[in-house]
Amino acid sequence: MADSPLKLIVVGSIGIDTVATPSNRAENILGGSASYACAAASRFASTGMVGVVGDDFPSQYEHAYQKFGIDLEGLQKKPGQTFRWSGVYHDNMDERDTLSTELNVFADFSPDLPARYREAPFLFLANIHPALQVRVLDQMNPSSFVLLDTMDLWINTEAPLLAQVISRVNLLAVNESEAKQLTGQRFLPVAAKQLLAMGPKYVLIKKGEHGSMLFSNDHTCLLPAYPLADVIDPTGAGDAFAGGMIGSLAATGQVDVASLREAMMAGSVVASFAVEAFSLERLQSLTQAELDERIGLYRAMIG
Ligand code: AMP
Repeated sequence: MADSPLKLIVVGSIGIDTVATPSNRAENILGGSASYACAAASRFASTGMVGVVGDDFPSQYEHAYQKFGIDLEGLQKKPGQTFRWSGVYHDNMDERDTLSTELNVFADFSPDLPARYREAPFLFLANIHPALQVRVLDQMNPSSFVLLDTMDLWINTEAPLLAQVISRVNLLAVNESEAKQLTGQRFLPVAAKQLLAMGPKYVLIKKGEHGSMLFSNDHTCLLPAYPLADVIDPTGAGDAFAGGMIGSLAATGQVDVASLREAMMAGSVVASFAVEAFSLERLQSLTQAELDERIGLYRAMIG
């Protein structure tokens, strides 16, 4: 419904990806931080997407967003080519090399939030240039709860601007190496303390198959990843985790120690499905019964 209130807004990249793993390869598949995050978040809460695509963007990809129920009023279509990214995974399926990045219409992206997006109580600033993240924060209701993601590129090239963004968000999500890179600290609890001192009330450190850690000044929560027998494509796992997490928070509207732990569980489980296939395929086929079953199994495992 074009005028129904949205619980969550996600701003990020929309890409056409080519991904190679040691045993598989997929070309021109739907990717981007916003795609993974919205697909995951929309399982839990009404989600609006802010991003940009070119006039080459395949209509079946837009239909895929619609099938997830993602609100697309914030999706801009510009003349030119959609952002493209290609990468190749190492044998450990953890590290990867970027082979090419073509910004195309993403180079001039100016995230403008439709009026009804600005009042949403939750915002996920997925990985985009920190200058664009500032632009979004300036448009958003200041009482919205904001989750921030970033990447090594911005830590290396835009550190002062990124620090400004970090100071304005409620929850910072980084992976282990980004936490160390941002702080120069080797031990994660020390790095987390330093990141909390930069402004956010909560810091989430994602450790891939080794789980995740959430820190606040007076609380720490550790959770394992859902153990999978096989991973087909790890691309977007962090975005799916963060999307599932903030989608779960947005569903209840509560942010406290208990709801954050529940949200981390939701994020872990949705991310475990996301990596079982390329692109959004597994999230597309995922039924509510499968999701509930795995959340139950995960809950039983962690006790
Ligand atoms: P992740 O695996 O969480 O790093 O997310 C992978 C997604 O990020 C891919 O689907 C890419 O389309 C997208 N991506 C790659 N490089 C960038 C970039 N420089 N800025 C924004 N998104 C990117």
